[in-house]
Amino acid sequence: MGAARKPFDQKVAGIDAVLAYYREIGETRESLPYEIDGVVIKVDSFDLQRDLGEKTRSPRWAIAWKFPPRQAVTVVEDIVPQVGRTGVITPVAHLKPVEVSGVMVSRATLHNWEEMEKKDIRKGDTVVVERAGDVIPAVVKAMTEKRLEGAELLAVPAACPECGSEIVKIPGEVAIRCLGLTCPAQIRETIIHFASRHAMDMEGMGDKYIEQLLRLGLVKNVADLYYLTRDDFMRFERMGDKLAENLLNAIEASKHRELSRFIYALGIRHVGEHTAKLLASAFGSIEHLEKATEEELLSIREVGPQVAQSVRTFFRNPANREVIERMFAAGVKPAVEEKRLGGRFTGKTFVFTGALTRFTRDDAKNMVENEGGHAAGSVSKKTDYVVAGAEAGSKLDKARQLGVNVLTEDEFLKMLEG
Ligand SMILES: [Zn+2]
Repeated sequence: MGAARKPFDQKVAGIDAVLAYYREIGETRESLPYEIDGVVIKVDSFDLQRDLGEKTRSPRWAIAWKFPPRQAVTVVEDIVPQVGRTGVITPVAHLKPVEVSGVMVSRATLHNWEEMEKKDIRKGDTVVVERAGDVIPAVVKAMTEKRLEGAELLAVPAACPECGSEIVKIPGEVAIRCLGLTCPAQIRETIIHFASRHAMDMEGMGDKYIEQLLRLGLVKNVADLYYLTRDDFMRFERMGDKLAENLLNAIEASKHRELSRFIYALGIRHVGEHTAKLLASAFGSIEHLEKATEEELLSIREVGPQVAQSVRTFFRNPANREVIERMFAAGVKPAVEEKRLGGRFTGKTFVFTGALTRFTRDDAKNMVENEGGHAAGSVSKKTDYVVAGAEAGSKLDKARQLGVNVLTEDEFLKMLEG
């Protein structure tokens, strides 16, 4: 038909080779930046195609062979309320460990009480769990026919399970939240977030160490991390000189992360990685961001009232300002990112669609943003370019309808090199 070869197209001979190919693709499936649910096997000999013929609508010489679903059946051993960084309390199912498409799963989120009640999932239930992409496994449904007698729904906790503080349901949200200012769970999650890879990236400083630091009373907030000594770490169980050294080096190295990472690491509500980048490039320093008025915040494209207010609230809190000052006193100095106002893509909006083979979606987004452009999720009249990989669907159609420039991945890279 003269159609371009798709990235995974492969000509194989014999049923064993077909089987091998199916397995190979099945194994790489997890690492693909998009979802696939199987492979299509086609007989390429025209003679054989004629012999095989057609069914009502589909040819007998082309069949779809689906992969097994990324679902598994297991038992909910317990349902435990878990307190997150912002105080939101989530019911988490502790599962009898089960393999779902090659990964052992022992926990799954039930999202919130409303959802858990709607799906009617109870302790002891036999359930279907599912993994999709990078998302935390979720419980799809309970097999109620297997429900044990006396199984009850977990009630909404009367108080925070970790600190006993009052719990509120925020109007307009399904979430329930602990209001405790010194809730140990919130402090733990805040520090874990601060040290994490996309934030300050303190390599090796995982949940286990952070929990030990808290248990030993060595840290009470993120600033304390920068005052730890070798002796502090040596108080840990199973800690050696080398490991302590590595952890101290990881903390030291984090002192000069980019400003956007630092802003993201602070864990301001509604400020994710992308918003942190916007704030970093608009204000250029924590001092400026701290003093920003609501009006100034709102003047940034993509910053709405919710974010503006959240940023203001965060910096108005003297405790937060003190933590930041203590970090600066310890030598933390976020690196100022160059403003790319003169970037190649300044003011341009890109949409990436289809199966990308030259770069991941995350990379593409970074490349566009580094050049001052913007990567959007959907095509509109405001879109300047659509970069289409193989099997691009509705977004490509829409781009053509609207007359938006369509680029291949190579053309995009060429544009980037200028
Ligand atoms: Zn609490």
